[in-house]
Amino acid sequence: MFLHMNGPDKVWPKTFECQGAHGHQGEVFCLGTKAMNVPEKGGFKSMDAAAEKPLGEWNTYESICKGDTITVMLNGKVVNRLTGCVPSSGRIGFQSENGAWEARRVTIKPFSIKISSLLETPRLKVLIIDGQNGHDWKATTPVLKWILEECGRLTVDVSTTPPSGPNAPSLPKNATTEQQAAHETAMAKWKIEKDEFILSNINPWKQWRPNFANYDVIVMNYAGDRWREEVRSSFTKYVQNGGGLVIYHAANNSFPEWPEYNEMMGVGGWGGRNEKSGPMIRWRDGKFIRDETPGPGGTHGPAHEYVVEIRDFEHPITKGLPKRWMHSFDELYSKLRGPAKNLTVLATAYADPAKQGSGEHEPMLMTINYGQGRVFHNALGHMPKSMEDVGFIVTMQRGIEWAATGRVTLPLPKPEDISAEKIIRRLPKQNNFLHTLECVIKHGMCDHLARPTGWLEWAIK
Ligand SMILES: [Zn+2]
Repeated sequence: MFLHMNGPDKVWPKTFECQGAHGHQGEVFCLGTKAMNVPEKGGFKSMDAAAEKPLGEWNTYESICKGDTITVMLNGKVVNRLTGCVPSSGRIGFQSENGAWEARRVTIKPFSIKISSLLETPRLKVLIIDGQNGHDWKATTPVLKWILEECGRLTVDVSTTPPSGPNAPSLPKNATTEQQAAHETAMAKWKIEKDEFILSNINPWKQWRPNFANYDVIVMNYAGDRWREEVRSSFTKYVQNGGGLVIYHAANNSFPEWPEYNEMMGVGGWGGRNEKSGPMIRWRDGKFIRDETPGPGGTHGPAHEYVVEIRDFEHPITKGLPKRWMHSFDELYSKLRGPAKNLTVLATAYADPAKQGSGEHEPMLMTINYGQGRVFHNALGHMPKSMEDVGFIVTMQRGIEWAATGRVTLPLPKPEDISAEKIIRRLPKQNNFLHTLECVIKHGMCDHLARPTGWLEWAIK
């Protein structure tokens, strides 16, 4: 393939020649052209000769020309990159010598900012864990995935655990003799179903062993059955050794019996948590204090819209963001308790007693250092509607990047896109059609919203 081809019209025009010949795919020759990082004469060897497929198989060859930089990708891997190319523009051509050269499908795509961000920074690998949750994880995982992939810095895999067993039947308070008898029958039936369920899921649980070390950051959208000891210890080791972890909303309801997990997330709620689990963290008189008052850990009133207020302006996740923003319809998690070791609160929300709140500024965004690992704890995001505002989206993206790398390179949102007065939503837009988050859930990430059938654009509604 000839790139940046310029006249005069002759057999070997002035051009950058990107090789498509078997055994040489991805090599680049400068024919009367120059690149800053290429020797005076000759060309560039492929950086990854193994990226080429065996003879007889189709290869996917991509050349990306941005300004004076040419990047050559073979089967998804960068195999060559030329910088400071002279000339920096020209025609595209195909030429063949010594044999046939076959192309099955050729497409030319206009350049967009999205593509450049993908090329310039290697993307971080995220693993979302779901499969059990008192919440609608089947709805929130696709939205999370969409939010994370949108920023162009992250690629997302999902690991779904085996399902939870049938719930035990409940007995109403002050039950009548009849109700008690019916409950006993239901309990006997449930015990049989539960045992059958456990037996049929022994193997799926044995097989569920995510390789945490393959990822830069793990996002927990899970609250459910205890994991096998082997998985728990590899998870702890992963974070201890410097892995990134994100605790998202009800994931802080998980594993009250697992001390290391509670230490990683700092504070949590429900599951029998109380003063023995640790203190509550309170913002009073301009500083954070540890509140040891006895009582259950974890509560919330009915969902509503509320303001999230940043308390730490120096942390990479929050630095430069507006001080407050109006957060979309959500539960306001309150009275979370835990070991709260090495915990920094980045943002709080006021739990208004008029909305059955605690009357305290409750921690919403937190970071925790655990061993060498970094944890970002986001108590927001009960359901897709709670995940639409720009404040939620950008702090989630920034929190994940920070947990993965300890730095934040993502650009700040425009000041007018975050407001304490009204909710500003960010929704996926394609073909000039504004999609709702329900649409993301319905169509998933692989249908009409997926790359590369069209590039997502942001729209502010
Ligand atoms: Zn919730």
